[in-house]
Amino acid sequence: MADGPTPPGGRIPGPGPGEVPGERHSRDLRPAVFLDRDGTLVVEHEYLADPGEVELVPGATEALRALRRRGYVLVVTTNQSGIARGYYTEADYRAVAARIEDLLDRAGAPVDATYFCPHHPEFGEPCACRKPGTGMHREASRELGLAPERSWFVGDKVKDVLPARALGGRGILVLTGFGRDEEDRLPEGVPAVRDLAEAARVILEGVGPSP
Ligand SMILES: [Mg+2]
Repeated sequence: MADGPTPPGGRIPGPGPGEVPGERHSRDLRPAVFLDRDGTLVVEHEYLADPGEVELVPGATEALRALRRRGYVLVVTTNQSGIARGYYTEADYRAVAARIEDLLDRAGAPVDATYFCPHHPEFGEPCACRKPGTGMHREASRELGLAPERSWFVGDKVKDVLPARALGGRGILVLTGFGRDEEDRLPEGVPAVRDLAEAARVILEGVGPSP
């Protein structure tokens, strides 16, 4: 296998997510909070492509800081089918992502990594990364040394929380963004909470459902 660039912090060898972790590796793997972006971390604007329209959800930065203090790795996973649909370019996406990163940095609430899926099956080949697929979560877990079965999956759509089922973690629906429309289709046992701040409280106070 060709040597690729070493990601920040180095690649941690070991079993992939969903596999049984070997004893010598499991203690090194860290829990994460996988966060959806639009409607969860930033205020929903359909097919957001203008950095000037980026607005963080109230309370989001405090939530991120609290989760980080507790040792959670913060990973944004975002479906960006607007790229496949031709609504905006990958450069537009990156401009928005840079604006979000800047706002989070200024608030002292950076995330550790962001993964995006530019695909949509109706506008190209099917992919493994578009949520509810788990490609982004698996890639993050390999690159950052995460334990998805000890992680949380937070978003405003059912497709954001379904990876928790495949990977063994726990999901939380937030009622910002499209959350109110999605609540009726939520799998049993997945809590629905007001916003990201409330989701952090559920995670940190351990008042969620049993795994
Ligand atoms: Mg969303």
